[in-house]
Amino acid sequence: MFFPFMTTTRTEGLRQSDRVSFRIPLEASWMDGSGLVRRLLAHSLLISRNGGVLRMQEKFFPGQEISLKRPLEGAGIRSARARIVAEIDHEPEGFLYAVHILEPRSDFWDVEFPSPHKAEEALARLLMECSFCERREVVYLNELELKSFESRKCVARICKVCEAPSIWVEAQSELVSPESQAARGSEVGRFAANHEDDRVLPRRNRTRVKARVLACIRRRGFQEEVAVCEDLSKGGIAFRSRNQYPEGTRVEIAVPFTPGSGAIFVPIRIVFSQPIPSAGLFRHGAAYLKPPE
Ligand SMILES: [Zn+2]
Repeated sequence: MFFPFMTTTRTEGLRQSDRVSFRIPLEASWMDGSGLVRRLLAHSLLISRNGGVLRMQEKFFPGQEISLKRPLEGAGIRSARARIVAEIDHEPEGFLYAVHILEPRSDFWDVEFPSPHKAEEALARLLMECSFCERREVVYLNELELKSFESRKCVARICKVCEAPSIWVEAQSELVSPESQAARGSEVGRFAANHEDDRVLPRRNRTRVKARVLACIRRRGFQEEVAVCEDLSKGGIAFRSRNQYPEGTRVEIAVPFTPGSGAIFVPIRIVFSQPIPSAGLFRHGAAYLKPPE
């Protein structure tokens, strides 16, 4: 049932960036049938360059347009027009909608998303912010940055806003709730799941970087699991987990992973799976899947 929706998002360019699990408080407003402007509080579950998944306590229809407002630090407000792409779930806490932001240049989320072709250079990805100006950016970590994050939980890099090197830390969700973990599970996971053919990235770069960072593994129909990475490369990752994932299985992985921070799930395929009987764990190797052209 998600194929028509995925087709729509693809043509609308929703997939032109990573999708980050990130909760941001919002206000939605729209004109109702009698011409009255109505407002409600909402929040994001996933954000991408041109859209996201929002939870809202109101029934909307695909194609319906709404205005979104986002409070900024101080008294500022960021606003944009958005279109409901699809209702993807109905939970007791509200409806989940995939939305498309109609003003792509509005930088509504205040997050810089790198262009997808740079993803092949990524060992790991994180939503980070400059500790000086708080500008947020999806960062593709190289080996040096990954090692720095592993030992110090921060990375030194140039900030385009500060126009200087600065310390970057993981961005924390603006809303923290006990259900945020669960919310990332079922339906949002299905939204985030890709439907492209499995095309494993070419094995041109096999350099492995050992780093003991956490990863979150999401498999459709199963509980999310936090696992420990053994090494990472541009083509894939090796990790240890309690669950066994059969060879050939498609899962999504967010690495590095910190509960409550902006996780970026990307599709991978399990290449090997070996029990470690002494530890009661399984060692896995997995290869990143190539995103659709
Ligand atoms: Zn800065």
